[in-house]
Amino acid sequence: NDSLETGWNLETSYSNLPKTFYSIIEPNPVPSPKITILNQPLASELGLHTKPLQSEEGVAILAGNRFPQGSMPLAQAYAGHQFGHFTMLGDGRALLVGEQITPKGERFDIQLKGSGRTPYSRGGDGRAALGPMLREYIISEAMHALGIATTRSLAVVTTGEEVIRENHLTGAIMTRVAASHLRVGTFEYAAQWGTTEELKALADYTLKRHYPGFVEAENPYLFLLQEVIKGQAALIAQWQMVGFIHGVMNTDNMTISGETIDYGPCAFMDKYDPATVFSSIDRRGRYAYSNQPKIAAWNLARFAETLLPLLNENQGRAVNMAQESIEDFTEIFHCNWLGGMRAKLGLFNQEKEDEALIEDLLNIMQKYEVDYTNTFRALTLEKPEETALFGTDDFAQWHNRWQKRLDRQQQSMVEALQLMQKNNPMVIPRNHRVEEALKAAEEKGDYTVMEKLLEVLAKPYVHTPEHDEYSTAPGPSVRPYRTFCGT
Ligand code: AMP
Ligand code: MG
Ligand code: MG
Repeated sequence: NDSLETGWNLETSYSNLPKTFYSIIEPNPVPSPKITILNQPLASELGLHTKPLQSEEGVAILAGNRFPQGSMPLAQAYAGHQFGHFTMLGDGRALLVGEQITPKGERFDIQLKGSGRTPYSRGGDGRAALGPMLREYIISEAMHALGIATTRSLAVVTTGEEVIRENHLTGAIMTRVAASHLRVGTFEYAAQWGTTEELKALADYTLKRHYPGFVEAENPYLFLLQEVIKGQAALIAQWQMVGFIHGVMNTDNMTISGETIDYGPCAFMDKYDPATVFSSIDRRGRYAYSNQPKIAAWNLARFAETLLPLLNENQGRAVNMAQESIEDFTEIFHCNWLGGMRAKLGLFNQEKEDEALIEDLLNIMQKYEVDYTNTFRALTLEKPEETALFGTDDFAQWHNRWQKRLDRQQQSMVEALQLMQKNNPMVIPRNHRVEEALKAAEEKGDYTVMEKLLEVLAKPYVHTPEHDEYSTAPGPSVRPYRTFCGT
């Protein structure tokens, strides 16, 4: 059968959870699905064969017109705090096809995004437009190549239908691959509307799926909280390292697995400014660059609250345990941040003044409004004269201090530079580059610009002169970049 030929090897463990966590979905067929981009390396990691995947039957699966053997299509229920306000959500335009078991025995959710209305769609049409789906494809794959935990993108198909937003847009469906789609919001949903048994079933499922170390833990649910906190502390520190601004850190967009999810309004910072916000709806800067760690802690506090009934302690003691864990987040995040920044500056050992050295560089970058990525890039390439800071006394003094600091460590300058190369990307998905690729695809059906961009973004730490043009920051005349979600 064609499932065997394509390599689909699906299980549906999520459907064993109590029924309150999902709704079974019938197909919402689309008229003429066509594949626009397929992630061949990811397909092979999943054990899928690209030729049958691109056949008519293969594409029908990626469009949600057919379901492969072993699948049990469902929409997941979840809630969430959106900009601080609690609400019921759920997969309003996505369905879970099943969990692919890879040749290595790993388990990944296969989700179709843009697959039509579900019981959680509220007023929405359940569909997605081509531009945003391609944008998620590009940025999530770039994040993966940067070494940052993320959901991934297997394919984008056009549907042959238009979606109606402010204008008529090309309809599309993206296949998203994730360690799971369990969110802080899934737990909030269970805590708000489920029974304690249902909440416990969710927590037990999560532990088994993501944190098998719980079998050794004294209190498995406290262990769950601590593991999620550790994962998010590491993740958010990595975002800060590369200047990634998520843009919509609602609790429904925070995974339990520690992967980045939801690429709606995200973007990478160009010039260094901690207050940077790209999302058009984030008027107060709740999700600004410098707020990301604080918001993560806030979201994790919401997560901790959902676990209180399971902590098996009296209420007062449970609250203390949860609070202590949240305080740990700030400390773990700070360690990750400091470690990451030391590596960006080529520092192997620790000195007390390192934090001041790092902060001073960032302050100078902010003062002179210079590009974040390219400043570290120039230091890595030993071309400080290429930074816009060059020639200022501030930078000359800082550079001198940094050189002395490098001299004080045992490692050679060559080793320091190698460390820096591994931690300072030469290329990031620059907003103007992403827009250019999307424009060519959407307006002319020309995918070559996007393919070239993806090729460069797949090797962000490799420096070749060919990559130079992709590292150019946008000129000062460019108006502020704005992102939108919900298309
Ligand atoms: P997001 O802002 O992407 O995190 O989405 C928030 C919620 O809106 C989720 O429950 C989505 O499923 C839902 N949603 C977004 N777009 C649509 C749509 N076109 N139709 C139905 N639901 C949607
Ligand atoms: Mg979302
Ligand atoms: Mg979204």
